[in-house]
Amino acid sequence: MEVVIIGAGIVGAACAFHAASAGLGVTVLDRGPVGAGTTSRGEGNILLSDKEPGPELELARLSRDLWGEASEELGPQSVEFENKGGLVVASAPEGLAALHAFAARQAAAGVRTERVDRVGEFEPHIAPGLPGGVHYPQDAQVQPVLAAAGLLRAAVRRGARVRTGEAVAAVTGTGGRINGVRTADGSVLTADAVVNAAGTWGGEVGSRLGAPVEILPRRGFVLVTEPLPPMIRHKVYSADYVANVASSDEGLETSCVVEGTRAGTVLIGASRERVGFDTAMNPDVVALLAAQACRLFPFLRDVHLLRAYRGFRPYCPDHLPVVGPDPRVPGVLHACGHEGAGIGLAPGTGALITAQLLGRPWRGADPAAHTGLLPDRFLTTGGVPT
Ligand SMILES: Cc1cc2nc3c(=O)[nH]c(=O)nc-3n(C[C@H](O)[C@H](O)[C@H](O)COP(=O)(O)OP(=O)(O)OC[C@H]3O[C@@H](n4cnc5c(N)ncnc54)[C@H](O)[C@@H]3O)c2cc1C
Repeated sequence: MEVVIIGAGIVGAACAFHAASAGLGVTVLDRGPVGAGTTSRGEGNILLSDKEPGPELELARLSRDLWGEASEELGPQSVEFENKGGLVVASAPEGLAALHAFAARQAAAGVRTERVDRVGEFEPHIAPGLPGGVHYPQDAQVQPVLAAAGLLRAAVRRGARVRTGEAVAAVTGTGGRINGVRTADGSVLTADAVVNAAGTWGGEVGSRLGAPVEILPRRGFVLVTEPLPPMIRHKVYSADYVANVASSDEGLETSCVVEGTRAGTVLIGASRERVGFDTAMNPDVVALLAAQACRLFPFLRDVHLLRAYRGFRPYCPDHLPVVGPDPRVPGVLHACGHEGAGIGLAPGTGALITAQLLGRPWRGADPAAHTGLLPDRFLTTGGVPT
């Protein structure tokens, strides 16, 4: 079977890695370089801690296992995979009770959780007086662009082809079934299946494939400090982050996640707002995130910021990724809309897409177990290939 994957971000790369591992013929097309879309704008958190029990957590649990396996093959150092764990802290006793209740639901769904009464023993430089938190030992981290490149290199070793600088303009087909894609320069690539892994542009690419899906940009800023000696051991964030992630509010929301990197910089992310593809710098957002981070780690008040970057999360109105065959156009599969979790969810998505292409489970991904992510959950309009 020949498969064309549109998008060489982390999701397209993971789809290519698994599909090529399964022996499928794979060509990855991207209009730009590898990993230059939202993948270059994420922080690289692989989180179970922020996910409610449900379809996304199931994909995240599968992905966490597959990240461990993939990083062994790619070399944990080369993709900066760090099994560092997350620490979610409450700022008030009421918040702690809610956090414990949330963690208990996650534990019942298979997530490892550990109550932490003295957060200072976990994080010596955290603000004093916090009432407690929950440690999530499975939370991890990866460098997203290195990981996308590494997954694609591994796919190429298994026979996949990667073509950058080529935008997909349309799908070709007869009788309602696709048999390839046409790139912007007019060349045609034949394929039995086309995977839409175009991230925030998945809606636009879906429309070109005759299978529109609703994916919207949700802007986020990340702050980067000057390099420091190791001061922060885990991913640390306050319990209200979870509410912000799940919110559908269009206005600005900030609740920071703070983490050290191997290079010594501290990453402080991330804001959430729906302002279209507006790339303008917003100093107010930067100031809010910085203030929140300083409340969690007071030593940051004396640390300089090096830079702030921003990107556009691929946001689906129900906050779930769209993964699976589109019933309107046989041969088209979507793998997009992962919002602020696409780095973490990529390997599970790649395995699930591969399982759907094969028509049988692949590397722990059983299509029957992930039906909540299928595109037919919110399809309203039809479409056929041209
Ligand atoms: C500030 C911020 C912080 C984040 N932090 C995290 C985090 O800590 N952990 C986490 O898991 N996630 C995080 N995310 C989210 C994560 O970055 C995304 O979910 C993920 O990168 C999406 O990957 P993707 O491969 O789907 O999309 P992309 O990386 O955007 O890749 C899509 C590709 O499709 C290509 N494309 C588009 N249109 C066409 C076309 N017509 N023809 C050919 N190619 C096309 C683009 O060029 C692009 O390379 C964060 C996001 C932001 C903005």
